[in-house]
Amino acid sequence: MIGISIVVPVFNEEENLPELYSELEKILKKLNKSYEIIFVDDGSTDNSFKVLNEIKKKDRNVKIIKLRRNFGKSTALSIGLKKAQGEIIITLDADLQDNPNEIPKFLKKIDEGYDLVVGWRFKRKDPITKKLPSKIFNWLTSILTGIKIHDFNCCFKAFRKEVAKNIKIYGELHRYIPVLAFWRGYRIAEVKVDHRPRKYGKSKYGVMRLVSGFLDLITVKFLITYAKRPLHFFGSIGIISFILGFLAGIYLLYLKFVNNYNIGDRPLLILTVLMIILGMQFISIGLLGEMIVSESEIKEDESIDFKSTQ
Ligand code: UDP
Ligand code: MG
Repeated sequence: MIGISIVVPVFNEEENLPELYSELEKILKKLNKSYEIIFVDDGSTDNSFKVLNEIKKKDRNVKIIKLRRNFGKSTALSIGLKKAQGEIIITLDADLQDNPNEIPKFLKKIDEGYDLVVGWRFKRKDPITKKLPSKIFNWLTSILTGIKIHDFNCCFKAFRKEVAKNIKIYGELHRYIPVLAFWRGYRIAEVKVDHRPRKYGKSKYGVMRLVSGFLDLITVKFLITYAKRPLHFFGSIGIISFILGFLAGIYLLYLKFVNNYNIGDRPLLILTVLMIILGMQFISIGLLGEMIVSESEIKEDESIDFKSTQ
């Protein structure tokens, strides 16, 4: 049985890897627990893979997963978490910005009974163009989800094994790991961590991530609020549209039969038909959603674990 798994997503980080490895090894040896270090090479085009293989030759605890192309950090993380065997899994960036010496802080929180521990880069060493959007993003996410942590996007995290196995990360959802975990009822803690400037290599993310981050926020909000009851979402839109269409229809009928107007060329007639059809469509989509959820719910129930207390 492995005590601790370290999972590191790597994309073109050749200069950082040797230093990262030696820092990790130093601190892990001190902990006196069995461990593995899993590097997930996310389709690097530099010498990262070669460097990793050199490291692996020297240390049996090092494992490498190589992805065939660059799939993005979420996929890299998600595969790493899936393969990790440790009771506690720690993720951190490969660029040396997260200081491995903080690992004991995370373990302490897990010992206290938390299921997920999230790092907070309270003195973030990044350019303002990165810090400001991140501040806004964190603030919005915290408000929309009701989770009171400061740094959702910090890669430095510790998971109890079952948390890592039970949350599904895809697309850009790695930013919302705390949200996904919270939603599943796991206990979340936050620890302040030292953050260092990037010494080698370049950041892999540009402005576009703001847009995708925002779309993901909508996804996550939607998932949290409606994933288990799609009819409530689609159905309410459907019912509103249907009722508006219905009322407009009555009004048109009134004009036709009471006032004897000709309604055949009224744009309102088209709108009425549109609203009624849309309404029925939305309600049907909601019902389809319910069918899908009830299918997957059966599988899901098996993965939710119950901690019974006497
Ligand atoms: N990363 C990855 N796949 C990607 C982009 C980044 O695995 O497509 C890794 C990268 O090697 C690093 C971590 O994700 O270990 C964070 O990337 P970066 O430092 O560029 O992001 P930032 O710290 O600027 O948010
Ligand atoms: Mg970085």
